[in-house]
Amino acid sequence: MNEKIIDIIIPCFNEETNIKPVYEETRLVETGIGNCRFNYIFVNDGSSDNTLEIIKELAQGNEQVKYISFSRNFGKEAAMYAGICNSRGDYAVIMDADLQHPPALIKDMLETIERTGCDCCAARRVNRKGEDKIRSLCAGLFYKLMNRFSDINIADGVLDFRLMNRNMVRAIRQLPENRRFSKGIFAWVGFDTRWVEFENVRRMKGESKWSVWSLIKYAMDGFIDFAVSPLKFAGWFGGVVAVGSAVYLIVEIIKTLVLGRDTPGYASTICLILFFGGMTIAILGLIGEYIGRMYMETKGRPVYIEKESNIHED
Ligand code: UDP
Ligand code: MG
Repeated sequence: MNEKIIDIIIPCFNEETNIKPVYEETRLVETGIGNCRFNYIFVNDGSSDNTLEIIKELAQGNEQVKYISFSRNFGKEAAMYAGICNSRGDYAVIMDADLQHPPALIKDMLETIERTGCDCCAARRVNRKGEDKIRSLCAGLFYKLMNRFSDINIADGVLDFRLMNRNMVRAIRQLPENRRFSKGIFAWVGFDTRWVEFENVRRMKGESKWSVWSLIKYAMDGFIDFAVSPLKFAGWFGGVVAVGSAVYLIVEIIKTLVLGRDTPGYASTICLILFFGGMTIAILGLIGEYIGRMYMETKGRPVYIEKESNIHED
């Protein structure tokens, strides 16, 4: 049988302490599998520490280590996309640099794909041990809403950490949108996906780069990019309110004609005006959010800008 090539895509943002450990651990997995060769694609996402130097050190005289370095921090989504765009192997793996994604799982994933003939095998956390309670509660709520209101299905606990065959990689490459939400994209492109489960592990060194605010923004991105139902809801809501107020108006006219004019009712009127005024502005804001995204997407800017790389040298 031919030797299989597996591209290991590792997005790195200020991971100087983790690069070598993750590389060494993954090497061990590689030797344990046999009949396949790993290519490492480190994507340096505008780190301000020594991440790039350490990657270059690894790449020196080692054909298997490739890197792409961005001109600034473009975010993990862009880094994953850069890896996908440069993957030429039979399979591609996306893996975090902080060893929160145990490289040993790659072996299980490969076995699953070879045994079942599926296209993709992704890791799924069975728990969120060691994670903030509120954070995991919010995440759970997000996935519930997402699955309810969009036309894709994402299981809670599914990670970006996965092994995909070349077909799926090619499909993802065809989605060059700027605001990326990979979990949605993986689900959207389809393909037969299986899961391997594992227990949550703490990040090896350094800190998570996600603040509460950036997580909220990320959830918003995911929601707006994959669900148009908020807009549908706004439309329905507007319709119901319009019909309701028309009925109310008719009732009021009849009441005035029959009972004569009465002055009370000022407070309720103001309340209604404020309520619907507020709702209108909120819904306009929602629509504005979609239009803003359309504007950004129509610019057709690249997802990332490469500053240097050892991939195109040869
Ligand atoms: N990452 C990146 N760009 C960023 C933020 C993060 O490439 O702007 C990388 C980071 O180096 C790590 C992975 O994405 O390899 C996951 O990041 P992190 O551990 O901070 O996220 P968490 O595990 O808390 O979800
Ligand atoms: Mg992490």
